[in-house]
Amino acid sequence: PVRPPLLKVEGVTAFYGNIIALKGVDIEVNEGEIVTLIGANGAGKSTLMMTICGAPRARDGRVIYDGQDITRLPTHEIMRMRIAQSPEGRRIFPRMSVYENLQMGAALDGGAHFQEDLAAMFELFPRLKERVSQRGGTLSGGEQQMLSIARALMGRPRLLLLDEPSLGLAPLVARQIFDVIRALNAERGLTVFLVEQNAFHALKLAHRGYVMVNGLVTMSGTGADLLARPEVRAAYLEGG
Ligand code: ATP
Repeated sequence: PVRPPLLKVEGVTAFYGNIIALKGVDIEVNEGEIVTLIGANGAGKSTLMMTICGAPRARDGRVIYDGQDITRLPTHEIMRMRIAQSPEGRRIFPRMSVYENLQMGAALDGGAHFQEDLAAMFELFPRLKERVSQRGGTLSGGEQQMLSIARALMGRPRLLLLDEPSLGLAPLVARQIFDVIRALNAERGLTVFLVEQNAFHALKLAHRGYVMVNGLVTMSGTGADLLARPEVRAAYLEGG
């Protein structure tokens, strides 16, 4: 008996006004996996991430999470189901301190494990401990990304959605972020759905991946399988 996927996106379409951004997307994420979605600028990756969270809402198709149809649920109810998102551009609260940002993340968990989870985040990201009283907006790009991920983790998610965590970061800093994602998955069994333009690192990290072109999934396979395909290499890896 195979367990059903934790997340199943089935034939999902999404629109901005009259413009179609997702044209019928199918994706599955199993519990304990890192799954990545790669694709060029404007392919619809961020839209899919947001549609899973209910805004923009899927027009056709279904989003099933943990066996429940969440397609029509309001975003705040989806967030309460332990789906956490670190959106593109990080979206931390720039005028709040690191500590306050983490408090906001913990609110989704009711705050009951705040001290314990805070200690765990400081262990995972020692930088955040050093900067605990500093305003979010004064952190470096890499530190803001760490804060965005830590804030998402404070809600004790079962599924972590990460949109372009390496965007705009120096290679070494991006590498640290990917290492943390790998550790969260390997050591805590966290399930991760990762959107990335940095296809090489994303596919190396992921158990499985999907390629999106123009609102449609055109290829899927294991990370290693996709990395080896000439059409993936040509389009996403070799300066493409
Ligand atoms: P990026 O890496 O640039 O974020 P992406 O693959 O995430 O690219 P999306 O941001 O999902 O792509 O965009 C998919 C399509 O929808 C693009 O054609 C984009 O121009 C369009 N789009 C995105 N957001 C909006 C919006 N708020 N209003 C209108 N069109 C939008």
